[in-house]
Amino acid sequence: MRGYDVIVIGGGPAGSSAAYYASKNGLKVLILEKYKVPRFKLCAGCISKRITPYLPEGWERFVLNRIKGGILGYGGREEFELSTDEEVAYITDRVEFDTFLLEKAQGKGADFVDECEVLGFETEGGKYRVITSKGNFHADFIVGADGFYSKTAQALGYKKDKFFKALEFFTRGDLSEKVMIDIGLVRRGYAWIFPKGENLSVGTACTQRGDLKRVLTEYSRLKGVKPEGRMYGWYIPYIEKDGDVFYGKDRVLLVGDAANLTDPLLGEGIYYAVRSGKLAAQALAVSPSKPTEQYRKLLKDLVSELVYAGKIARLGYKFQKVAYTMSKKGILKSYYDLLLGKTSYKDLYRKGFVYFLRELVKEYASFYNYFWR
Ligand SMILES: Cc1cc2nc3c(=O)[nH]c(=O)nc-3n(C[C@H](O)[C@H](O)[C@H](O)COP(=O)(O)OP(=O)(O)OC[C@H]3O[C@@H](n4cnc5c(N)ncnc54)[C@H](O)[C@@H]3O)c2cc1C
Repeated sequence: MRGYDVIVIGGGPAGSSAAYYASKNGLKVLILEKYKVPRFKLCAGCISKRITPYLPEGWERFVLNRIKGGILGYGGREEFELSTDEEVAYITDRVEFDTFLLEKAQGKGADFVDECEVLGFETEGGKYRVITSKGNFHADFIVGADGFYSKTAQALGYKKDKFFKALEFFTRGDLSEKVMIDIGLVRRGYAWIFPKGENLSVGTACTQRGDLKRVLTEYSRLKGVKPEGRMYGWYIPYIEKDGDVFYGKDRVLLVGDAANLTDPLLGEGIYYAVRSGKLAAQALAVSPSKPTEQYRKLLKDLVSELVYAGKIARLGYKFQKVAYTMSKKGILKSYYDLLLGKTSYKDLYRKGFVYFLRELVKEYASFYNYFWR
């Protein structure tokens, strides 16, 4: 039975990255994408600068805005701004960016079929038979890159239970080189206004139950931006501990949102999608007999980073005013260093913890004085 070395299910950044690097490593790869490409993906499209060493050449052509700082707000009313000389992030259009990544994977030799929904897979003669809306395909390995509702993960018995609910709309407006993020609006989440070329992406993401439409409408009113067209909703998974990661089983590896590899603080997913795609390809090259074990080892640092991001998120969202004050006093600058790849969540957590406790005590002391003196 002839077939492929690897079938990648899903043509988002995680799938394209896995296919790009697996093809580069000499494997025969097939990418199967459910929708016709170019396809829409709901996303603010912000990529941190630390992703750039992992992107194929030519990505700069798809940058709509170069981010040189941000505005952090509290409750949609208070805010402060911190600019940088260096670009810390870039805004992309996901339709164009994802198409570019797919073309780059094909440029390395990967085959691609769109409008091809994967319905399931089974083992057959030592290979996988992947069953799709366009017939069956065979391969030695599968990389599940099929996003939040990953059928590949479901087939392996995984069930998602940690995720942000997000609501976003696009409208006219100009923020140019800045992004705006507001905390203090929802219990465990935030709202944002990002530039999108000469337009704006406005949204909110929250891990708790709540009326996001009401939050986003009120936030837009406070910021003076008018929703145009409809609001779109989608989900962002995240991890808080190693046990939340869906690594995969046997010769099936999961990457990106399918594996829950997304930042629990702000829901940044593209960086982790691209990196996990690359590491999955590396695992297949280094250890074809035990790829999931190898993949787990290769992901160790990335997962550890996300676990520390989770610790920061838990504290930050529980005490949002303290997080805001700390950001004003220097933590936002450290976060820019993280986006640049100059520091890690682990360092931020370790250095910030004592500082956090001090600010927490001050906050509660002033609260006590206000009410009891
Ligand atoms: C509102 C919102 C805003 C966001 N903003 C940002 C941001 O600014 N920056 C950032 O880094 N992250 C952001 N994210 C997160 C980011 O979009 C994801 O983490 C990222 O897209 C994950 O990439 P992926 O390749 O794993 O999955 P996806 O991009 O979801 O790609 C999965 C692909 O698999 C395909 N697929 C699904 N099922 C099948 C099937 N059965 N057969 C074949 N193909 C299938 C899908 O059609 C899709 O093309 C945001 C998310 C949301 C919801």
